[in-house]
Amino acid sequence: MINIIFSEEYKNHDTGNHPESIERIKVVNNLIKEEYLKHNLIEPNIADKKIISLVHDIEYVNKIYDSIPNSGFTYFDPDTIASPNSLKSYLLAVGGSVDAVNYILDNNNNGVFFCAHRPPGHHAECNKAMGFGVFNNVAASAQYALNSGKFKKILIVDFDVHHGNGTQNIFKNNPDVYYASSHQFPFYPGTGSFDEVGVGNIFNCPLPSECDSSSFRSLFRKNIVDKIDTKFDLIYFSAGFDAHKLDPLASINLDDDDFYWVTKIILEKFANNVPIISVLEGGYDMEGLYHGLHNHLKALVEYSDE
Ligand SMILES: [Zn+2]
Repeated sequence: MINIIFSEEYKNHDTGNHPESIERIKVVNNLIKEEYLKHNLIEPNIADKKIISLVHDIEYVNKIYDSIPNSGFTYFDPDTIASPNSLKSYLLAVGGSVDAVNYILDNNNNGVFFCAHRPPGHHAECNKAMGFGVFNNVAASAQYALNSGKFKKILIVDFDVHHGNGTQNIFKNNPDVYYASSHQFPFYPGTGSFDEVGVGNIFNCPLPSECDSSSFRSLFRKNIVDKIDTKFDLIYFSAGFDAHKLDPLASINLDDDDFYWVTKIILEKFANNVPIISVLEGGYDMEGLYHGLHNHLKALVEYSDE
C-alpha cells in the first residue's frame, strides 16, 4: 500500500497552450483512479510562507504572491506562467510534499508516498522561477525533513530528462543531502556536468542525445548506483517522465519499463526499510507520462509490500 497525495485543484493552474498543461494532471489523476484506488489517497495541505522560505528567499516568495494576475497570464520567465488560480497549486505542491514528511514523523513509519503535483519544482532556484516551476517542492520537503532532526542523510534521485539546477544549487554545500540526476546533456538548463560535485554530495549522470534504454541503464548504474556508497534514512525521487521516447521536449529514448528499472535499482541498493517520497516533475507526452508513471508506481508498490 502506498500513499498518493493528489488534488483536483491542480486543474485550475491554467498555463494556456503550454506543454506543462492541465492535461498532464488529468492523465495522472486518470491513472490513479484506474489503477490505484485501493491505495491511500490524501488531499494535500497548503504550505505557508515559513515552509516555502526554508529554501527560498522571503523577498522572492513575497514577489511571487504579489505577481499573481487577476486575469490573463503573468510570465516569470518565458516558460514559467501564472494565471489567477496558480498560487494555490504552487502552495499545495509544496504543502503536499511536506505533508508526506509530517505523516512519516507522526506515524513513525516507513511509508511510501507519491505526490501527484504540478507545476514541477526542480528548476526553481532560491530566488528565481524557472522551467515551469516557481517553488522547489522536493527541496522544501527535504529541508523540512532535515530540520525535524529525525533524518540524518537524505538522497534525492532525479530522473527527469532535465537537470534539476534548483535542487542541486540549494543543496550543493550540504553534505547531509545527496543529489543524483540523470539528464540529457548538453541541454536545458545547461547545468549537470560531471565536474559539478558539490561537497562530494552531487552525482550527475549526463546522457547523450538519442540515448537508448540500454545505454541509459549502463550509464545510470555506473555514474549513480555504483558511485554512491552511503546509507540514507529518507529517499526522494524527482520523478519526471520526459526522458520517455515519445516526449516532445527532449531526445532521450527510454521505454515504459525503464521507469520501473530506475526506481527498482535505487530502492534495491539504497532503501533498506526507509521512507520514500516521490514527487512528480516533468513528462509532456500524455501516453509517455501515463505509462512511465505507472511503471514507477509499480516499483514503489512492490517496495511498500515487502
Ligand atoms: Zn523535465
